[in-house]
Amino acid sequence: MAKVDMANFLATRVKLFKNFPAGRLHQLVERADVRTFEPNEAILEFGEENRIFGALVEGQAIVAVTDDSGLQHRLAELNPGDFFGEMALMTGDKTCADVIAVTRCTAIIIGEEAFCSLVTTHPPVVRTLSKLISDRVRQQATQGGEGAFRQGDDPYGFKLHSDSPVRLLVLNCGSSSMKYNFYDTAHEIRSVHGVIENIGDDKTRLRQVSTLGEKVESLPRGDHADAFDAMITALTGRDGPLTSPDEVVAVGHRVTHGGERFHHALPIDEAVEAEIERLSLLAPLHNPVNLAGIRAARRLFPHARHVAVFDTSFHQTLPPYAYLYGLPYEYAEKGIRRYGFHGMSHAYVALKAAETLQRPYNELEIVSCHLGNGASVCAIDHGRSMDTSMGFTPAEGLIMGTRSGTLDPAILIYLMRTEGLGADDLDRLINRSSGLKGLSGFTNDMRSIEKAADEGHHRALLAFKTFCYQVRKHVGAAMAAMGGMDALIFTGGIGQGSAGVRSLACQGLARMGVVLDEEKNQAARGFDEVCLISTPESAVTVLVVPTDEERMIARETLRTLDRSFISSLIKKPDQPLVPIEVSAHHVHLSHEHVVALFGPGHVLAPRSELSQPGQYACRETVTLIGSKGRVDNVRVLGPPRKETQVEIAMTEQFKLGIHPPVRESGDLRNTPGVTLEGPAGRVTITHGVICAQRHIHMSPADALRFGLRDRYVVQVKVDGDRELIFGDVLVRVHPDYRLSLHLDTDEANAAGIVSGTRGTIAEIQNRA
Ligand code: AMP
Repeated sequence: MAKVDMANFLATRVKLFKNFPAGRLHQLVERADVRTFEPNEAILEFGEENRIFGALVEGQAIVAVTDDSGLQHRLAELNPGDFFGEMALMTGDKTCADVIAVTRCTAIIIGEEAFCSLVTTHPPVVRTLSKLISDRVRQQATQGGEGAFRQGDDPYGFKLHSDSPVRLLVLNCGSSSMKYNFYDTAHEIRSVHGVIENIGDDKTRLRQVSTLGEKVESLPRGDHADAFDAMITALTGRDGPLTSPDEVVAVGHRVTHGGERFHHALPIDEAVEAEIERLSLLAPLHNPVNLAGIRAARRLFPHARHVAVFDTSFHQTLPPYAYLYGLPYEYAEKGIRRYGFHGMSHAYVALKAAETLQRPYNELEIVSCHLGNGASVCAIDHGRSMDTSMGFTPAEGLIMGTRSGTLDPAILIYLMRTEGLGADDLDRLINRSSGLKGLSGFTNDMRSIEKAADEGHHRALLAFKTFCYQVRKHVGAAMAAMGGMDALIFTGGIGQGSAGVRSLACQGLARMGVVLDEEKNQAARGFDEVCLISTPESAVTVLVVPTDEERMIARETLRTLDRSFISSLIKKPDQPLVPIEVSAHHVHLSHEHVVALFGPGHVLAPRSELSQPGQYACRETVTLIGSKGRVDNVRVLGPPRKETQVEIAMTEQFKLGIHPPVRESGDLRNTPGVTLEGPAGRVTITHGVICAQRHIHMSPADALRFGLRDRYVVQVKVDGDRELIFGDVLVRVHPDYRLSLHLDTDEANAAGIVSGTRGTIAEIQNRA
């Protein structure tokens, strides 16, 4: 390739060199070479000192990393005009990923010296480079963090994605039934759904559905071990997707109770099994059978990686005021608190609602009603569960098929005293013989209740009305918890199947913005598709969404396996420490409010720089005035923003009498207002007060080093007198950001942390 062609290629095809001065370009190509790479040849290797910058002229390459078990994870694809090597050259770090030729590649190679003296000394290039890196990170994040290969047609991440094909089994073991789902990430068409019912009696039956059709088989009376054998026979049989159980690479297990320790799905080892066993006391109907299923599956699929996915994890974002019971605090410290269940279902249908509304998931206020044999309502505030009707166990909240739901706790004591009932009797009473069954006196099946009610059966009518009334009451409570509702979702067997329940549950909610279109409601085919059942005028979009907990478990299983790779990167010993900054209360003002508070023409006066470039604390302070009191000397931060935002800690919230939600900076919809007072006047904002979510700022280079992306959620460990773990820390990536963790004053005070303390990123908790 002639030098003139190289210069021409760089100037016209490589974005970085657009408008690059011709003289510099000429000098650059004089010092550049052209090299070719054969298919599968490493152009750059992970961990090497990198001394080159390259621009791909012909061929295709990938950027990838390989985990300990040899699985390759693709981060990006390179085509002609794309370049590589800039990250390590700019940061001085070792190469953080392999660049591998997929086809025969030709590249223009520029050495470190030429790159540093001619390229990085040209400010527009540095700007372009920073922007490109941040765009790349952002793009990956908006694609669900699944890597640059992911198509933009699945922004909510419903497809099961893996870099190399994975055959995956999802198991949901109940006391008398076992559900199994098989997925092949390379061929979703090969999915198989199976259920074995009535295990342990004479009516045991296996039903398996795939694209090849449905297969129903009666099985001899047997136990769970026999059910496992029957499942393997069905999966490896003539119509099955497998020839041997060894082809299964991963097994995702649904586990009901994850207690306080499990904030996310986890690879199963002995310690995880032991904790699930310990939690059996809290979910005696579920955890022991889940665990038996795990143990059996680990024996039958010894080569697969097993992952536990918990029903409770989704609700670990509940704030203390939502998860505390009114018992003495010591009991909360012993783990007696609200946990919430049906997490996979609530998360799935909420994502589906966001997809239907074509809105970002983390901008919405959603009330999800999972109404099946078990039933719960969940308030999902800007992507985070903030309250739910089930509690310490799945017995609390709504009336269910056979569960009583919420009772006056004194009723149980009364029954112990007057009827001599013991613990087991009460357990049976509230879990097995109450709810629809107890009230109707004959069935827990909503279809039979509705049929009987239609025929005038009084107790069936009562059961139906009580059920619907409770749903309506909990919907109201969930809306009140968030202060708004964009979407109301019905799911679960009853939620999807019963137009009557949906209709009655929504009646009288017009003032809350819920107006059902009865025709659409009656016509909804809730088991087949997402159905919109509200009128166009309804402020709240009401949807019927077929739930798919199994897909969600499969997705979490894949993400967990991928996470274990990120986790190994995070835990590398040479990772940088994260400086902690304690955010005191502060306000960001709009231009308009600067003028209103400090007078016409006023310009904010910088007082000191903040750690994040371009941000500064100002000389100006304001007073905040709430319904209850005032807080003086609240520092103004600059530069001015589009909208005024007030960030205050819990003690100040109390002083002011304001109750803001935990939010990301800038996410101000449906937040409370406050009055601000400055030397030139007062301003009352109707919204804008938030309690900032814990977050880490980092640059794209830091993000790559940790294997993280924008909007991932991590846990941070701080060593002090005692070790502290801060969970639910949102990662924000931007080229202007310097690595730091921002903590709220109250939180830092409670933990005895001062600015300047350092922490380590301990674990990845969740991906965007
Ligand atoms: P699940 O636990 O989600 O499988 O839901 C089971 C409950 O859904 C049972 O009470 C069923 O009676 C109820 N159900 C299923 N289909 C319908 C339907 N078409 N109408 C009313 N209830 C239904």
